[in-house]
Amino acid sequence: MDHQESYFVLAYYIFTPIADPHSEVAKHLEFVGQHDITCRVYISEEGINGQMSGSQEDAEKYMQWLKSDPRFAEVAFKIHTHPEHVFPRATVKYRKQLVAMDEQVDFSLVGIHVSPEEWKQMLLSRDENTVLIDVRNDYEWEIGHFEGAELPKLDTFRKFPEYARQLREQCNPASTKVMMYCTGGIRCELYSALMKKEGFENVFQLDGGVINYGLKEGNEQWRGKLFVFDDRLAVPIDGKEAETISSCRHCNEPSDTYYNCANMDCNELFLCCPACAEKLQGCCCTECQSAPRLRPFVKTEKPKPFRKKHLISQNQSQ
Ligand SMILES: [Zn+2]
Ligand SMILES: [Zn+2]
Repeated sequence: MDHQESYFVLAYYIFTPIADPHSEVAKHLEFVGQHDITCRVYISEEGINGQMSGSQEDAEKYMQWLKSDPRFAEVAFKIHTHPEHVFPRATVKYRKQLVAMDEQVDFSLVGIHVSPEEWKQMLLSRDENTVLIDVRNDYEWEIGHFEGAELPKLDTFRKFPEYARQLREQCNPASTKVMMYCTGGIRCELYSALMKKEGFENVFQLDGGVINYGLKEGNEQWRGKLFVFDDRLAVPIDGKEAETISSCRHCNEPSDTYYNCANMDCNELFLCCPACAEKLQGCCCTECQSAPRLRPFVKTEKPKPFRKKHLISQNQSQ
């Protein structure tokens, strides 16, 4: 490992019954408070969903600590390295649901987990009876996705059941092969169950999501970068290099750098090149430039997310 990449960035989740999630939150807060760790961890009655950065030593201690509890022994950690922390602080909170969903999900219906290796083979051999669904938001899709993947056009993933019903009108749920993926796998745990509930019989989900795929198979069949819900915002999935497939909102030049609009009452997440960011002082449009509440523009190569509703939405689950 590069000596500069001295922090571990962990992504993980596990569905397992937790009788008293609030005391689990307290235990977590105590642990992370005593270590060099920043994180965003959500705990509910149904399990844990976490993202974390820590010094290599402390991240390793955390992984051991979590796995030492029999309930969490099977948790799978996906590990990136990075030169610094990727969260501004250590956040551990109770959440009623790990992935927001209005419908009750029957976990016994969950799709077939496919390893990155098998996933790649399925991608290479897929035919017209296969639907490849990207279970993420449009701003995630825009900077990177699997070649040929379909993006459900939804304002919110709460509408996913509706999408599944529409898809059922277009293709035969008995013979159609559904392949679905998300960033770290957790969203597919629920959406695959919903697809099955809507009658799709052959539902496959990428185990560990795109993060796991990048770690195991590199960027073959993938285009662009991966959107992540931390200070890095966009990463090459193989940890090396990636092409830019998206463009600046203002001038259309290639860019995969996201900014939150400097107008605090707008805060929209948008793609922008460094030149236009400077010209518009970090605003998404000229109207926002004359708004009353503007954050001062700071010129930087890698802007960090300004967290307001966009990045604290329920769909931030990786
Ligand atoms: Zn531009
Ligand atoms: Zn704006």
